[in-house]
Amino acid sequence: MRIAVVGTGYVGLVTGACFADLGHDVACVDISAERVEKLRSGHIPIYEPGLEEVVARGLANKRLGFTTSHAEAMRGAEVAFICVQTPPREDGSADLSYVERAAEDLAANIDRYVVVVNKSTVPVGARDLVERIARRRLPENLEFDVASNPEFLREGTAVFDFMHPDRVVIGTASERAAGVLTALYRPLGAPLIVTDAASAEMIKYASNTFLATKISFINAIANLCDAVGADIKDVALGMGYDARIGFEFLKPGPGFGGSCLPKDARALVRLADENDYDFHLLRGVIRVNEDQHGVVVRKVRKLAGDLEGAPVAVWGIAFKPNTDDTRDSPAIAVVRRLIDAGAIVRAYDPVVSEEVFEQLGIERAAGPIEAAEGARAVVVLTEWNEFRWLDFERLKGVMQSPAIIDARNLLDPHSLRQHGFAYEGIGR
Ligand code: NAD
Repeated sequence: MRIAVVGTGYVGLVTGACFADLGHDVACVDISAERVEKLRSGHIPIYEPGLEEVVARGLANKRLGFTTSHAEAMRGAEVAFICVQTPPREDGSADLSYVERAAEDLAANIDRYVVVVNKSTVPVGARDLVERIARRRLPENLEFDVASNPEFLREGTAVFDFMHPDRVVIGTASERAAGVLTALYRPLGAPLIVTDAASAEMIKYASNTFLATKISFINAIANLCDAVGADIKDVALGMGYDARIGFEFLKPGPGFGGSCLPKDARALVRLADENDYDFHLLRGVIRVNEDQHGVVVRKVRKLAGDLEGAPVAVWGIAFKPNTDDTRDSPAIAVVRRLIDAGAIVRAYDPVVSEEVFEQLGIERAAGPIEAAEGARAVVVLTEWNEFRWLDFERLKGVMQSPAIIDARNLLDPHSLRQHGFAYEGIGR
């Protein structure tokens, strides 16, 4: 099949590269000339394990191409995926201007029957918006359908997730479009849910906000564990064995983050408001999440004392390991609060770019031990594996006072205490 992909960010690049790997001819278009230039020469502008190899294969066998021209990407395309960003507006609602622009750009270049597929996360009703825009710009005598096909991949394991989805959701009223998309996805062997567009759009928001709810719930329980002397690790284990609950997303931490959960939670609250439903459960989830940043800072104060002028080391800036994405990272929220409290923060992250450190106005250390030199406390904010296996005797030797606030419950408190560290986890 000939496929066009509009947008080569985390979702678009993975979608394009994986469909090419499955044997399709894929043309990816992006408005960023710099990004397209890099991709053409095989350079991946994001950190995503395994993606470079898939892109390289696609370029080598010429099944994958990159362009800045929508006309070129749309030439002969049978399916066109919209994978552009939908950032939050000031009021929390999803900014659809990139989706609108993408719909215009591709509609003007349709040259045969095509299924336009919205993969961006968009509130209910956006499929109809795309259809209206496309119809206005469509050359005469041509037919098209618009479907919603939300994406569930996770950064850090995006290629695996795309190739092995738990389910594929296709939202469209058109049998023809449903036929094209089920044929495209059937080789992945995942359950296919074909439904109307509104339900497909709602499935994405409901899934993400349910995950956010699980995280806020376990964070609230962890905070209570701290207060009453229970251990959240055992509590979560005891809960997780119940098949109705499961083990996933029961890890407490500094709060959920990333480019999806916080923005999607805010957007769903807005959607509820617009439909006269007060989604106070989800408002609570967001509030618990924001409070959690403060919980971490209080723990830093407990071990390091007054933070005015205090050197504090931070391990991890990305919103989770195996990605360089820092959008809505809880680590950044905590760093900002530490700076506001007067702390002098030096941080280390193995993949986050220099630019992010500069924007935060903090020093970037060459490694975790270097970040901790002279520090009064180390705060673990992203659970990168390399932090597990450090020489903790050496770490103790370089610090002003040996204290670790482990906001990811990554390290072993017993062994750290034996090394002479003061230790605070979340709920343990
Ligand atoms: P991103 O910001 O990484 O990438 C978007 C890309 O689209 C950018 O490269 C941008 O230059 C390009 N673009 C914007 N307008 C364009 C246009 N008119 N023509 C061509 N290119 C254009 O975004 P992302 O993280 O890939 O997310 C895309 C969508 O998928 C969002 O709605 C997001 O909520 C959703 N989503 C993201 C993830 C994730 O893990 N990142 C997972 C599931 C769903």
